Amino acid sequence: MSEREFFCDDGSDDDGVTCPHCMGDRTVNCYCAGDFCICDNFGDADCPVCHAEGTVTPEREARYLKNLAEQRELLRELFASPRPATPENG
Ligand SMILES: [Zn+2]
Ligand SMILES: [Zn+2]
Repeated sequence: MSEREFFCDDGSDDDGVTCPHCMGDRTVNCYCAGDFCICDNFGDADCPVCHAEGTVTPEREARYLKNLAEQRELLRELFASPRPATPENG
């Protein structure tokens, strides 16, 4: 008899990592969200990143995080650039 080593074994074969988009919830807020959901999802939608799996491959996670960083960078540039003057008559 061999002693069991302490392994975190959750019984899953895939080597996925927790989805960084839904944090493993497998669902995310749908875009219309909440009580007035118009897409029949009742406020929840299948996570588009992990496709309701809750886990993604490490490659996909890396790509997701990279996209996120790029989006943040884009937003920062947007906010940093001076806004064109718009008339506010109204
Ligand atoms: Zn997900
Ligand atoms: Zn909805």
